[in-house]
Amino acid sequence: MGKITKLPAYNCIFFRSGHCIHEEAMNPGLDPEKQCHVLMELENRYDHLLTQADIFDLTSEQVQRIWAGRFGEIVSWEMFCDIYVPESAEDDRCHRLFGSACTNRFSRCPGICPLYIAKRPQKDIES
Ligand code: SF4
Ligand code: SF4
Repeated sequence: MGKITKLPAYNCIFFRSGHCIHEEAMNPGLDPEKQCHVLMELENRYDHLLTQADIFDLTSEQVQRIWAGRFGEIVSWEMFCDIYVPESAEDDRCHRLFGSACTNRFSRCPGICPLYIAKRPQKDIES
């Protein structure tokens, strides 16, 4: 008897480059392990700066100036992530981002499952 294989789920709304983001779509940000570590790194650095701003009683303008001076020009996605892929030539956000999570950190979709929801066809604006 032949082996039964699941149908591929390319058309599922939770399918991202072979991975299933159902968990993140239901509970955004719940699992810190699944979040983009570049965004987390920047968030940590910004939080640290805000703590210092509190201690030294800095204004928000001073904080923004310090941030731009320290990180504004040197921070790039590639500095923190080896598998970063830009969204497009005009948009340097990572193609693997879903909200603040990294789609690459989710399990691979094994094929159509009970949670499968098909994408709706795009409406034709001419009709
Ligand atoms: S691949 Fe992209 S989304 Fe994932 S951690 Fe790297 S920069 Fe973040
Ligand atoms: S078919 Fe199931 S496992 Fe695959 S992406 Fe959709 S919800 Fe996730």
